[in-house]
Amino acid sequence: MSLAGHTIDSIRAGLLAKKFSAQEFTRQALAHAEAENPKTNAYLTFAPERALNAARAVDAKIAKGEDPGALAGVPIAVKDVIVTRGVKTTCGSKMLANYVPPYDATAIIRIEEAGGVILGKTNCDEFAMGSSNENSAFGPVRNPAALDRVPGGSSGGSAAVVAQGTAVLSLGSDTGGSIRQPASFCGVAGVTPTYGRVSRYGLTAFASSLDHIGPFARTVRDSARLLQVMAGRDEKDATSAFAPVPDYAALSGDLRGMKIGMPREYFDGLASDTGDRIMAAVDMLKNLGCEVRDIHLPHTPYAVACYYIIATAEASANLARYDGVRYTTRSSNAHTLSEMYRLSRDEGFGDECKRRIMLGTYVLSHGYYDAYYVKAQKVRGLITRDFAQAFEQVDAIVAPVSPFPAFRIGEKMNDPVSMYLSDIYTITGSLAGIPCMSVPCGVTPGGLPVGLQILTKHFNEMAMFRVAEAYERASTN
Ligand code: GLN
Repeated sequence: MSLAGHTIDSIRAGLLAKKFSAQEFTRQALAHAEAENPKTNAYLTFAPERALNAARAVDAKIAKGEDPGALAGVPIAVKDVIVTRGVKTTCGSKMLANYVPPYDATAIIRIEEAGGVILGKTNCDEFAMGSSNENSAFGPVRNPAALDRVPGGSSGGSAAVVAQGTAVLSLGSDTGGSIRQPASFCGVAGVTPTYGRVSRYGLTAFASSLDHIGPFARTVRDSARLLQVMAGRDEKDATSAFAPVPDYAALSGDLRGMKIGMPREYFDGLASDTGDRIMAAVDMLKNLGCEVRDIHLPHTPYAVACYYIIATAEASANLARYDGVRYTTRSSNAHTLSEMYRLSRDEGFGDECKRRIMLGTYVLSHGYYDAYYVKAQKVRGLITRDFAQAFEQVDAIVAPVSPFPAFRIGEKMNDPVSMYLSDIYTITGSLAGIPCMSVPCGVTPGGLPVGLQILTKHFNEMAMFRVAEAYERASTN
């Protein structure tokens, strides 16, 4: 049974009307996902036992007449960088190929408390480093919209399962664009909430000051609902925010009088097939009553360089724990302790992780720290200020997600710099820590999905969802 036609509401209605039980629905969803998975390689692990236990709990609540929860019986896939107790969590790396975590991430606990059913874990770039899912130690993922193309990355598997109809919702992680870019490549909605909105407890650290957990869904409303369940203060993550969580799904659809900014810096040099879709979306927002004006984010040209200094610096510190001593793969070819460290890392990490650990160690080293790392932090401050100034004039910003649609598997693998540049429009929002999402805005003449990016002020996910949902409603009618 494909899940493509299902939403949170349709599943809830089916359960309450006794059209199916959560256990039946889960069994069918699992069977379909397992049968379809070889086409895309989007799931790395299925968790049938865990899924059926969660479904059983939902059925028991319904039998007792209790509320089965906001995500009752909904099949959800989880990016393999988010830890799940008793279910293998590899981070797309040989280093953790056999790692079974002893605890659950806070986001996972909240989802299951709300009746969500976790079907399994999804493929991703190794430790979330990449833009195409080709850096996974377990093979690339194919884009369901065009099987010879990448699904984007690093949360490629999570975007693909929703597009493929093998999950209704999924979780990704975003450090520099890893939710929005694959969402745009696969034609689904993907949300990066404000930094601190969702607890990072149990999210394997890549660059801690930039890491976010966020939802993928087929509809804006479902993405808002999944965020609602996960959001809010968590004692276990000191950076999680105390800010109250509004009812994200209360979407009026009315955009009249809303001020929308178009950053000029994001529209120069855009491939025409992507640009045409974005401009059509902007026209539609005007028809919905928005006032669209040009704005400037003048420090945009420095964002990619700034990100690759800060992200690699933090990654080099975070990845130091994978040394072969504790829970990782250990080389069996070593004769001394230092050889064991070296060979375990050499055999366990892929090329991109090694490249970033070296780059990050370099920018943090004595003599280069001020020239690179401290400078990059200052630039990050300027980029954040650009957004703050823009939001004095407008309520939301619209932009492309990626300069081009999904590229062919293998096309950019030998050119890391061109791969890094593909994140040019997503990295700025990540550096500023503001909420941003990708909402599908049609396909190119060649049939490849394009995403419209919507960015708003810190903790104003509500305005972002409002624009996205009104656009979605207007464009699908
Ligand atoms: N593509 C970017 C990178 O390679 C972003 C990754 C991410 O957001 N996790 O770092």
